[in-house]
Amino acid sequence: MIDYHIHLERGPYSLAWLQEFWDQAQIQGVSELGITEHTHQFKEFLPAYDHLWKSGSDSRTTSWLRDQFGNSLQDYLRLLDAGRNLGIPLKIGLEVDYFPESEGVMRTLLQGYDFDFLLGSVHFLGNWSFDWKPEAGWPDRDPDQAYLAYLELMEKMVLSNLVDVVAHLDVIKVFGHRASRNLEDKWGVLLQHIADADLAIEVSTAGLRKPVEEIYPRPALLRQAARLKIPITIASDAHVPQDVGDRWRKGVALAKASGYDSYCSFKGRKRINHRLPSL
Ligand SMILES: [Zn+2]
Ligand SMILES: [Zn+2]
Repeated sequence: MIDYHIHLERGPYSLAWLQEFWDQAQIQGVSELGITEHTHQFKEFLPAYDHLWKSGSDSRTTSWLRDQFGNSLQDYLRLLDAGRNLGIPLKIGLEVDYFPESEGVMRTLLQGYDFDFLLGSVHFLGNWSFDWKPEAGWPDRDPDQAYLAYLELMEKMVLSNLVDVVAHLDVIKVFGHRASRNLEDKWGVLLQHIADADLAIEVSTAGLRKPVEEIYPRPALLRQAARLKIPITIASDAHVPQDVGDRWRKGVALAKASGYDSYCSFKGRKRINHRLPSL
């Protein structure tokens, strides 16, 4: 098993901390780590977020996000290189926040580095950090409007040609809010765009640890993705060592039930296919 969505951000950028993730991987039967720190961990990426503060004063977003950006991308890359040299099988990635306002800035910032793969995520609808806390924003939002805004941004991200993998496809459901309207047509259009752009999606067990208690994406979306032959990764979205490889067998079982027999990893932004392990 290969886990392609892991964050180190809750600890120091030290080899001892990285080793804790690898120790847990071995316990879980995970043979490779895709490390994907958020772009908002790094001061280098601050210019891609500037518009959030210029456009208004939404404390729902700024109260936590403004305190980020404390690390240097060079320190991150140096740590992962050192980990590799110690024999930890890892790939170097990032989880890129997508904002149409800063697409060009982000593209320029990413060009300076050699990543193995990039995840693309929509975590913000305008200034609203919708997956932060259920009480932040959701009580005064219409879920249908939130879903429509999310789908629109996801489509823009897919068309942007910035990333390799679409992270947590339907994370908009994180706190259990569902659209009252049938939006299957729109999800279908999004999946077709993902297929046309030759991007992969994640089968992410992180949703099992959230109030929604459901893998991203939900089964109907994954079945449709399989029909469109959209490649998948298997991902825990671990933020602490204990979550590496979290319930990956459930992810693999869902992938198989949806019609998949393979999943992928990346090296130098190129996809590598693997058979799904037997359970
Ligand atoms: Zn994310
Ligand atoms: Zn993540």
